[in-house]
Amino acid sequence: MATGTLIYEGKAKKIFTTGHPDEVLQYFKDDATAFNAQKRGTIVEKGIINNKVSERLFRLLEQSGVPTHFVERKSDREMLTKKVAIVPIEVVVRNVVAGSLAKRLGLKEGEAILPPIVEWYYKNDALGDPLIADDHVRLLNLATPEQLVEIKRLALKVNSVLQPFFAERGMILVDFKLEFGLHSGRLILADEISPDTCRFWDQATKESMDKDRFRKDLGKIEEAYHEVLKRVCG
Ligand code: UDP
Repeated sequence: MATGTLIYEGKAKKIFTTGHPDEVLQYFKDDATAFNAQKRGTIVEKGIINNKVSERLFRLLEQSGVPTHFVERKSDREMLTKKVAIVPIEVVVRNVVAGSLAKRLGLKEGEAILPPIVEWYYKNDALGDPLIADDHVRLLNLATPEQLVEIKRLALKVNSVLQPFFAERGMILVDFKLEFGLHSGRLILADEISPDTCRFWDQATKESMDKDRFRKDLGKIEEAYHEVLKRVCG
């Protein structure tokens, strides 16, 4: 597919214009970063896997009544999406203690979180994406209180759809990060949902099947990403 002008280049994706003013093209790269881009590397075919996994999950969520930016997958690495103004909040949903939550609150990795919790992080690389509260969202004008209520409702809905989907495939959905955007004044789910943005543990072995293998140098990174693709789309 012929690509338009590069609008934005992030750590894992490039965004291009298309012939349609309301749509953009997401191009998924193999570049991997962690710890606020202090660690960099390549995960071979990651872009292809994240594009296909995201497509499957966006389709599932749309069927379940969650509005998303997904329009069509154009090629192995390209996804056509609705153009949005991204709400600069990283929305994290947690079902099991892991990562920064374990560190920050001294909780034991692997403990179930019931009911699941939703956290906000200010999407700002220069500040290292700090954890923020509702009042900071208002202070920084990141979203209105009404939008924040809607974002939380949608995030929990996404969790209630994805958790059983992954459980049926022998995977524990530990936690994940979502981004929302405004399209024609409406909040919709944007970005990607992939092993880069979720923690998945194999139900049987509890082994990580996601970017933690890169973050923690656990090896067999590509194998894990391919296994996720097989279980999600296979
Ligand atoms: N996450 C993400 N992008 C980020 C930070 C976190 O996709 O910039 C995801 C991460 O993969 C995990 C969840 O959000 O699934 C919670 O991450 P956590 O806060 O534990 O941060 P980390 O351990 O990555 O520092």
